[in-house]
Amino acid sequence: MTNHLFDTLFGYHTGSAKTFVTPLGGDALSHEAFLALSARMANVFDAQGLQKGDRVAVQVSKSVPALVIYAACLRAGLVLLPLNTAYTVTEIAYFLGDAEPALVICDPSKANGLTPILPKGAALVTLDSAGAGSLMEAVAQADDQHEPLDCGPDDLAAILYTSGTTGRSKGAMLSHDNLLSNARALTELWQFSADDVLLHALPIFHTHGLFVAVNVCALSGASILFHPGFNLDDILADLPKATSLMGVPTFYTRLLDDPRFTRSLSQHMRLFVSGSAPLLAETHERFEQRTGHRILERYGMTETNMNVSNPYVGERRAGTVGFPLAGVDLRITSSSTGATLPDGEIGIIEVRGPNVFKGYWRMPEKTAEDMRGDGFFNTGDLGRIDADGYLSIVGRQKDLIISGGYNIYPKEIEVLLDDLPGVLESAVVGIPDPDFGEAVIATVVPEPGATPDPDALMALLRPQLARFKHPRAIHILEELPRNTMGKVQKNLLRDAFAVAPA
Ligand code: ATP
Ligand code: MG
Repeated sequence: MTNHLFDTLFGYHTGSAKTFVTPLGGDALSHEAFLALSARMANVFDAQGLQKGDRVAVQVSKSVPALVIYAACLRAGLVLLPLNTAYTVTEIAYFLGDAEPALVICDPSKANGLTPILPKGAALVTLDSAGAGSLMEAVAQADDQHEPLDCGPDDLAAILYTSGTTGRSKGAMLSHDNLLSNARALTELWQFSADDVLLHALPIFHTHGLFVAVNVCALSGASILFHPGFNLDDILADLPKATSLMGVPTFYTRLLDDPRFTRSLSQHMRLFVSGSAPLLAETHERFEQRTGHRILERYGMTETNMNVSNPYVGERRAGTVGFPLAGVDLRITSSSTGATLPDGEIGIIEVRGPNVFKGYWRMPEKTAEDMRGDGFFNTGDLGRIDADGYLSIVGRQKDLIISGGYNIYPKEIEVLLDDLPGVLESAVVGIPDPDFGEAVIATVVPEPGATPDPDALMALLRPQLARFKHPRAIHILEELPRNTMGKVQKNLLRDAFAVAPA
């Protein structure tokens, strides 16, 4: 029997005493020990009567047993459905109703809240951050031998919900080969090997921390230093033991804000990867000045895993996400005609490849809307390819402002605002306007201690921008609204300022 993803990522390490994962402050677990735990857990799932293709919804703190759930689901042919730990019971009700899992795994503190909203026939087991709860009690009693279920490349491995930045989260159906092909491409490109030790501080309910980080390590035989979250002291303490770090941009700004993060502390590191949100060119440059390392930025999404990456060997260009991965076709198309645009022009980023998902769970119309007849997927992001082939992300199609018939890319204005004195960060959105279709509204978060004046900012900004791009107003905000993945929710800003103050 073969199991396309499990055999290659995990089964391959059968008998290996090498460390796979070391939880912060805990004991190292070898591949063999991890495999035995996953076998026991798969037996628990089988004993629950779970059948191939059943969904297992998981909302638990990051821990080694939580990681074992992933391997055990693959083993047993089940579809993993990881959920953001920040979601409330009301939010979880949507996911349970939509995905109808046969099993729900949650923290014991959530069990009472979730029990009344369980789908018909679903079971619930518990797991806390320390590994206690009914799941591991059953695992301790279960047999440590388990024959992985037969699963082919197109069988579903996971339904991963999108972050919900632009609207309600959608369930992306990811097959065994979607994940394996991407892990292969990244492992080779980023030159991961069994000598690597990845410092892992990302959540494991999101594609970055779960599939990019874990799959690359499992495939290459690298070890993982598994932190429950990003705690600066812990990161600095473990950095000397690591060879690589994968992070969101805030990891890097937070490291740079700490004087203990020095060149000598990071000298031995092989690779720093950034993704999930735009890394400011300024952060890239500051990081290089401090450490001598150039952060490798890449671009991906829940639906496609990773699509594009800066090179490992060769120039990692700040402000760009690099080149399409091996096996990924990428084109930039016109939002009005659908035609492929020449390099240099801004348009919709479309991708095709073995990494592209099987469609949105129970949303055939949405799937049909975003999938082109020739296999390309509309990412909903806007980008531009430069003369050397590097892709830059310009923003999301939904955030594009069309005013008086002109396209206005918020990022162009945000970059200028961010450079003005006293400005920490900014977000620019379009609001409905009876004359122009949309009007530009800017929001600005001051640097700590600064009190920038909107009129003074406007006076500095205007000479740098064509008139039709001038914001109608600049609003000072304490902070930008962000979702639980730290992404700016422009829809909330649009709603907040839709009725522009007189
Ligand atoms: P939803 O689809 O529910 O609105 P989301 O798109 O934020 O939420 P994810 O799949 O987690 O959900 O995020 C993917 C998006 O993150 C991409 O489409 C892109 O807009 C953004 N992104 C990822 N990497 C980068 C990057 N390096 N630079 C800029 N944006 C990035
Ligand atoms: Mg999205």
